[in-house]
Amino acid sequence: MPPEAIDSFREEVRAFIDANCPVSLRNPRDGETKPAATQADYDRWRDIMIERGFTTPEWPKEYGGGGLSKPEARVLQQELAAAGTYAPGVSFFGLAMLGPVLLEFGNEEQKAEHLPKISNGQVQWCQGYSEPGAGSDLASLQTRAVRDGDHYIINGSKIWTTNAHHSDWIFCLVRTDPDAAKHDGISFILFDLKSPGVTVSPIQLISGQSDFCQVFFEDVRAEAKNLVGPLNGGWTIAKRLLQHERAMLSGGMPGVGAGPAAKKKSKSKKKVIEQPRSALAEQARPYVGEQDGRLADAALRDRIAQHEMDSLCFGLSLRRSAESAKSGQGPSAATSMFKLYMSEMNKRRAEITMSAMGAAGLGWSGEAFSATERANTRGWLRSKGNSIEGGTSEVQLNIIAKRVLSLPD
Ligand SMILES: Cc1cc2nc3c(=O)[nH]c(=O)nc-3n(C[C@H](O)[C@H](O)[C@H](O)COP(=O)(O)OP(=O)(O)OC[C@H]3O[C@@H](n4cnc5c(N)ncnc54)[C@H](O)[C@@H]3O)c2cc1C
Repeated sequence: MPPEAIDSFREEVRAFIDANCPVSLRNPRDGETKPAATQADYDRWRDIMIERGFTTPEWPKEYGGGGLSKPEARVLQQELAAAGTYAPGVSFFGLAMLGPVLLEFGNEEQKAEHLPKISNGQVQWCQGYSEPGAGSDLASLQTRAVRDGDHYIINGSKIWTTNAHHSDWIFCLVRTDPDAAKHDGISFILFDLKSPGVTVSPIQLISGQSDFCQVFFEDVRAEAKNLVGPLNGGWTIAKRLLQHERAMLSGGMPGVGAGPAAKKKSKSKKKVIEQPRSALAEQARPYVGEQDGRLADAALRDRIAQHEMDSLCFGLSLRRSAESAKSGQGPSAATSMFKLYMSEMNKRRAEITMSAMGAAGLGWSGEAFSATERANTRGWLRSKGNSIEGGTSEVQLNIIAKRVLSLPD
């Protein structure tokens, strides 16, 4: 794309943000004061971004996207960040995982039906992959789908299904040929979680949250038109979706203040130290070795500096990889390297944050701890899942050995 075209698009985006983004959701300009954001502000910004296709900037316009090229999408990101604002999240699993595979493997009817509802957040999706007997060895899955006229009848169960209790639809791996070799008898199908025969049971976690569910299917009727790709050809789609998932996870992970940008991290680190606590919390205990808002412990400072350098290098590696992938081939097995590194780095980050907080890191509930302290403790526990979700670190090492380094089995 010629530099003049990029410059002119940049101007267009700036004008768009200026005209539409409520000041409560962006950096104030000279003479402006920033009011507290209201629900109406969030809604307005979300609606405008959806209407312009900027929640899925690179998707084609006919499916609710912005129709932008990669360089234009990057400009949009840069300008949103420069204005101190953001692209509203509309549908986590739909946006990062299902949408890209529908664009690649879906037929025209499936794209027209499902993509716009991801783009505008109308339908929330969850991922029906893992089963009680099929996690790392995903291809052992046993949930059965049997053709019956225009439908498939589905029986079985999925587990660790994040947000199933808040989702509308599920994309699901099912066994459609039990006699074929295990990778060959799998199909990829979409269906409505409100269908009769679906039971969603939330699972309580150690962090006190309940993000996961086990989902049971008893004679659930899924429309055959929602089988994506060829019958028994679901494994290829499943693997592709995992690459998208790992690419997304490499960009930031749930846990203590997740995010790949070193700058952001150092800011939030400071926030942990400076966070005001209640009077009760103040009496209870200071942070470990804190003096004048700074950590006195040189070893801890060293760990923080090392982490900042690692995360900066990681951010640069991600950018380099994105640049070299400009040819538009989509994610590859190399996403496993990034996913592995991000998982381990995020867990280390959570550990460092807990060390820096000292006794305040024990905060779980009650007024003795600030909201940030409580969130950090829970985030630290949540970060333990980073090296499991989207495939464990051991599984990523296997993929790297086989598919990236071409080592023998
Ligand atoms: C936060 C979180 C969110 C999740 N969300 C979802 C979701 O939305 N949808 C969904 O379908 N699933 C989800 N999962 C499930 C996740 O994909 C599985 O937990 C994961 O694939 C591991 O499977 P498992 O738990 O059965 O462990 P297992 O496969 O039983 O593994 C147990 C241990 O053995 C090791 N291991 C297994 N096989 C090998 C091997 N070949 N070589 C070396 N080591 C091996 C593993 O690394 C692990 O340490 C989520 C998990 C987490 C933690």
